[in-house]
Amino acid sequence: MPPIKAAAGIDVGGTFAKVGIIDASGRLLREDKIATEPARGPQDFVARMAALLSAWRAEGSAFSAAGLAIAGDVDSEKGILRFSPNLEGWDGFPLRGALAKALRLPVVMDNDANLAVWGAYRTELKGKPENVVGVTLGTGVGGGLVLGRRLYRGSTGSAGEIGHTRVEVPGELCHCGMRGCLEAYAGSYGIVRRARLALAREPRGGSRLRRLCPDLKLLEPAHLSEAARHGDALAREVLRETGFYVAIGLSNLVLVLNPDAVLILGGVSRAGRWLLDPIEAYFKKQPFKVPFSRAKLKLAENPNAGRIGAALLALEEGRGR
Ligand SMILES: [Zn+2]
Repeated sequence: MPPIKAAAGIDVGGTFAKVGIIDASGRLLREDKIATEPARGPQDFVARMAALLSAWRAEGSAFSAAGLAIAGDVDSEKGILRFSPNLEGWDGFPLRGALAKALRLPVVMDNDANLAVWGAYRTELKGKPENVVGVTLGTGVGGGLVLGRRLYRGSTGSAGEIGHTRVEVPGELCHCGMRGCLEAYAGSYGIVRRARLALAREPRGGSRLRRLCPDLKLLEPAHLSEAARHGDALAREVLRETGFYVAIGLSNLVLVLNPDAVLILGGVSRAGRWLLDPIEAYFKKQPFKVPFSRAKLKLAENPNAGRIGAALLALEEGRGR
């Protein structure tokens, strides 16, 4: 029998775990999601995920490996979650081994930002550039590094944590407990905090944001993107400032790593040009012209990159682990 060129990709969030069967070209063949229900524990989760995948297999969906993408500090060597803010009580549980045993297949496991960057790198960057820096902009800010065309994990699997590199001193408080992290400015909570401040300073209350979201407690970055598209000056300014902070974080990595490309992923990246233009402008102003003109900026398009990266990595590295 020829080897099956498809894998299951699983993106485990605090509320839902999204799962798909993905072929070697990164195409999503089928998909579903289950409630993560972290309080029921990791063993219960593995049993429910394995039941779903076994049902798919019984229906004829073939896959030869599985990849797990998880937000948090992941020990990808041991297949253990060291720490995850969304999955309390799962720390130390051998998640990869448990799923591999339940499915009787090789399973790989890594941080969700690493795998989202890997998925976007493998499916959206033409010519497979040698060195790529990726940043994921969502509730939190994560990152991933591709060096020498391989996912770079560092000495303990913790590489690429761009969200907690510092862009202000002392700066605003980050969810991690430190001050001045990029995430405290460009994570969705940082963006919303700056938008509320700007609205409070606005004398006439004329921003379209107030109409789009009358209850400012419910304000989200998507409201800013929409207001910016309609010409709202305040929303554009908050997004420009977001781009400025992202540019500071990325420019530090460009100087250290000299990448061919910089990938921007995640929900906040849907702000499009309003976010990308200030990053481009910042890069153009840098005195070290060569590394900044080499580092091509690209917004990743596929919102499923985490699952796709998990499945592709499983196909590439899953054998024999
Ligand atoms: Zn932080």
